[in-house]
Amino acid sequence: MKKNYRSIDYKTIEIYRDVSETDWNDWKWQLGHAIRDIPTLKQIIDIDKKLEADLENCLQTFKMAITPYYASLMDQDYDRGVIRLQAVPSIHELYVAADDQDDPLHEDVDSPVPGLTHRYPDRVLMLVTHICSMYCRHCTRRRMVGDRDAHLSHAQIDACIEYIRNHPEVRDVLLSGGDPFSLSDAGLEYILKSIREIDHVEIIRIGSRMPVVLPQRITNSLVSMLRKYHPLYVNTHFNHPDEITLEAKNACARLADGGIQLGNQTVLLRDVNDCPNIMKKLVHELLMIRVKPYYIYQCDLSSGISHFRTSITKGMEIIENLRGHTTGMAVPTFVVDAPGGGGKIPVMPNYLLSQSDRRFALRNYEGVITTYTQPEQVFSNCGRCNICREGPKEYKPLDGVAKLLSGDKLCLEPSGLVRRKR
Ligand SMILES: *Cc1c(COP(=O)(O)O)cnc(C)c1O
Ligand code: SF4
Repeated sequence: MKKNYRSIDYKTIEIYRDVSETDWNDWKWQLGHAIRDIPTLKQIIDIDKKLEADLENCLQTFKMAITPYYASLMDQDYDRGVIRLQAVPSIHELYVAADDQDDPLHEDVDSPVPGLTHRYPDRVLMLVTHICSMYCRHCTRRRMVGDRDAHLSHAQIDACIEYIRNHPEVRDVLLSGGDPFSLSDAGLEYILKSIREIDHVEIIRIGSRMPVVLPQRITNSLVSMLRKYHPLYVNTHFNHPDEITLEAKNACARLADGGIQLGNQTVLLRDVNDCPNIMKKLVHELLMIRVKPYYIYQCDLSSGISHFRTSITKGMEIIENLRGHTTGMAVPTFVVDAPGGGGKIPVMPNYLLSQSDRRFALRNYEGVITTYTQPEQVFSNCGRCNICREGPKEYKPLDGVAKLLSGDKLCLEPSGLVRRKR
């Protein structure tokens, strides 16, 4: 199927009429011309007196930055547009809901070195910069993004790398921020190269919203640099099919042609994508631009974004509408990132209805109820191959429910269990 991708003629927007194509397609020009004040924003969208007062109010607490490219997607006539909601500050950001927190995921608490979060046994998250090309209104890291406009210093980066070097269990390093692609090619290459020099690091992943908000950043020279550090994965952040433009598609194609597998992390956002039909369109269009839907996140409890939150049920409804109705390739995992640093917890509809010793009663997406009869010999004893017998310990569970199942532990207890003190 040939799809006509949306491409905005920026010259129809008055303030960009005289901008050359070279400038428009230059990511540094885009960054330098990010919309940060109300008078500039007014030249792109209609702002009435009430909204202007609200914006002024809001900008005293939170910064705004919108790339001219992303701004050009804002629909002139539609003042609750999905692009606009993600880019233009709202008075609701000043409201702090009861359970709001600055750092709900305890990324700073679980941080052995500034800039690095080590939550899971085999992988670390490195927040390499505080800078983004655009400040998403729903950003979960608002505590740091747009606050201190800086990349991590060389010394801080070296300290993170040193930590990784000293922890042989780290096989997977995730670069995020801020947006790692807001670093210069050379700045990012320094990090990638240093990580690649560590023998035990197997894969590197980069999380970036640039393919969505500044696709011009995905230059051929960036891709030629990145491809030296394979196996490398990039996860991006499309939230709505309206973001899938010709420019975005081409940016993803450049990355994919560099052999970089692309995934997508969507945040479930009220009024933006809290609808199974929008989500279905989004995941299909993502596959067409060679991006595999990876996660849908329940909106976090970060301060000032409660107006974006939906119920968790909405996410389950979305999965119900995807699984079986379309290919499993298009079905992301819906997760709640546990407040307090418990990590991502998948939530989905129930497909298991009941069970006996012999049979499972399962239902499919159509509502057909079926049974699966277990084999007469239900035990399948692993432990005969070399991986179990003499392989490195890293394949055995260190902790968690998996360790209970392996029989290496009888129970897990909360620390400070009152009963233990008696
Ligand atoms: C999300 C996240 C990861 C990566 O999780 P995956 O499920 O492996 O994609 C790693 N560390 C932290 C702190 C995270 O929040
Ligand atoms: S690109 Fe990511 S880190 Fe940056 S403002 Fe948007 S959501 Fe936050």
